[in-house]
Amino acid sequence: MIVARTAAELAQALNGRSSAFVPTMGALHAGHAALIRHAAQFGQPVVVSVFVNPTQFAPNEDFTRYPRMLDRDGKVADEAGAQIAFAPEVEEVYPKGQVIPTPSLPPVARQPQLEDAFRPTHFAGVCQVVARLFDLVKPAAAIFGEKDFQQLRVIEAIVNDQARRWPDLKIIAHPTLREIDGLALSSRNAYLTADQRKQAIALWKALSAAQAEPTPRQAEHLMRNVLQQHGLEIDYAAVRDARTLLPIEEYSQPARALIAARLGRVRLIDNAAIGAENRS
Ligand code: AMP
Repeated sequence: MIVARTAAELAQALNGRSSAFVPTMGALHAGHAALIRHAAQFGQPVVVSVFVNPTQFAPNEDFTRYPRMLDRDGKVADEAGAQIAFAPEVEEVYPKGQVIPTPSLPPVARQPQLEDAFRPTHFAGVCQVVARLFDLVKPAAAIFGEKDFQQLRVIEAIVNDQARRWPDLKIIAHPTLREIDGLALSSRNAYLTADQRKQAIALWKALSAAQAEPTPRQAEHLMRNVLQQHGLEIDYAAVRDARTLLPIEEYSQPARALIAARLGRVRLIDNAAIGAENRS
């Protein structure tokens, strides 16, 4: 596997070839590895980016303490089947004096009152970095995890809106990988103390228990109860239209239950399909 540290090294490694692309912020775990293995099935070189993007963190968030472990990440990416790891410095992604055309924020990044409400500058940063990385990597496919469900919808929207900028790009969704007890794998799980790790199971418990409730409102109510019982501070626990992420009154279309909750300074997110078609 080649490690490219600059745009020029990346271009040299790609040598004009198309690719399957997995953008990450590093601290790779089995969830990232699953995305990389999936990317390898497209029969094209797999590019994994490892870049902690400063513009998607607010000043009070965890940018400086976000785990960085490039040597280990290189091994994980290589073993999962990546051909190129792109690990640029900030100046390489945002060169001084160069204007990066940044997509305007689609409605799904502004209207749902989910991540957009609690991290108001986050999706502008995500759209900026993803657009820049797509321009540099020029992939034919990019794989994103359902773990960040609103982000997935936002990226689908910008790629749709900017069809001329990335005409042949396909966005592929990959299901969330979980620990045996249901906790979604996340680089941020490393921040949890042993006690918080036990409490964190509440997200999956809440998402699972909500499945049995007949209406979105009752499902939301139950999720809040489960989270509170386990001592989590809730940012949101919502059932939404799975496409627009806007509120729904009943299960007449595919729906998604989404949670963001905090344990001390650690903020966790998770989500799951919910609704009539999901019930056995
Ligand atoms: P991150 O490094 O957290 O920015 O994540 C990079 C990519 O990996 C994103 O598309 C995430 O949605 C995806 N991802 C993170 N955690 C998981 C997981 N547990 N299962 C599947 N995909 C994941």
